[in-house]
Amino acid sequence: MAHRAAPDVGVRVTEPTDDMSPFEAASYFFHNAADRVQLRDEVREVLATCYRELAVQIPVRMDDGRMAVFRGYRIQHNGARGPYKGGIRFHESADLDEVRALAALMTWKNALIDVPFGGAKGGVQCEPGLMSESEMERLTRRFTSMISYVIGVNRDIPAPDMGTNAQTMAWMMDEYGRKNGYTPGIVTGKPVELGGSPGREEATGRGVVICAVHAAKKSGKDFSQMSVAIQGFGNVGFWTAHIAAEMGAKVVAISDVGGGTHNPDGIDLGAVRKHLQDGGLSVASFPGGEEISNQALLELECDMLIPAAIQGVINGANADRIRADIIVEAANGPTTPVADNILHQKGKMVVPDILCNSGGVTVSYFEWVQNIQQFRWELSRVNDELTKKMVFATDAVMELAADKNLSLRDAAFNIAVERVAFAAHLRGYI
Ligand code: GLU
Repeated sequence: MAHRAAPDVGVRVTEPTDDMSPFEAASYFFHNAADRVQLRDEVREVLATCYRELAVQIPVRMDDGRMAVFRGYRIQHNGARGPYKGGIRFHESADLDEVRALAALMTWKNALIDVPFGGAKGGVQCEPGLMSESEMERLTRRFTSMISYVIGVNRDIPAPDMGTNAQTMAWMMDEYGRKNGYTPGIVTGKPVELGGSPGREEATGRGVVICAVHAAKKSGKDFSQMSVAIQGFGNVGFWTAHIAAEMGAKVVAISDVGGGTHNPDGIDLGAVRKHLQDGGLSVASFPGGEEISNQALLELECDMLIPAAIQGVINGANADRIRADIIVEAANGPTTPVADNILHQKGKMVVPDILCNSGGVTVSYFEWVQNIQQFRWELSRVNDELTKKMVFATDAVMELAADKNLSLRDAAFNIAVERVAFAAHLRGYI
């Protein structure tokens, strides 16, 4: 969905509209929480804006000899609770405003799941699908060297996000190491062979499912009896689908940028994998289901809807037509504030992004701890500790929501904002 240009820093929008920018939308949820917890004005001002915003120009020699110039960002939103932490997104929409929004969401996410990090995000505005592996490597190395002044093991630790992966992190670690010496803890989400954590690759998807299972159970429902539709088949959607199926749920629809596939009897994910391995360009052409659009997937008859792609897909134009009773936000910012209000009025349960997609950064924290200790954990320990943290945070959010009659998102923001504000106060910033 098209949105307005980047607003002035810190402008508050009180009446939500669907063309709000991503940062305006993230700020809308923050300001409402700030009102509810009665944040003092000077604290609000600090938390409404980003601490540091680095924008860089990245010239890259392309394979055809041409020099392309990309824009890149590393934005540190708030560091009261620890070193800045958050992924790097390579995507055509990754502009200043989007990266600001994602940085702020990382602050709240890290506080809510209670890892000792502040929030940051990076982005490079590019189209990875149109670039060769060596162009990606040159872009990543140049970007890393340009942001090397603001990152550090105890300062700011990047990780993968949309369009980046373990290989990207390996290049970043290597490039940073050229000047600074071998530093595995400079990034998380690395290949396991280079100090990555077992279980990090699937951690976001695993966390989504742990949270979905627990939230369903607390509201008297059984996840293993549910039908689930998942939008997005990148790292998060892929693992969410596989782990949901492993837990007994019926995955009735999946999709990627090329479209989706629907089968009310459940999709055979092993056969989908084979279809893609055999050269299928999209899950849309999977023969074991009926082709549907990404839009139609959101409106399917099912028990649980999991948007696991990009922001703003559930908005004022379709919120009324969402049929699933539970919406689990695996993506960052998939529901606009307008849609959030509609879903709340209709009595839908929306499990917010800052809670349910925090499994990725949680295992990033475990990876960083392992790097600092130079001690490798077993996969079973990673998954056990992840489960403990996800269940604890989900309980806290659901209990506060029930206690104060709030939506799960509002309860989650209340907890996160209060924690960050208190840490800032203890440090004496505000
Ligand atoms: N990019 C992921 C997120 O949005 C993970 C961030 C991290 O591990 O630092 O939560």
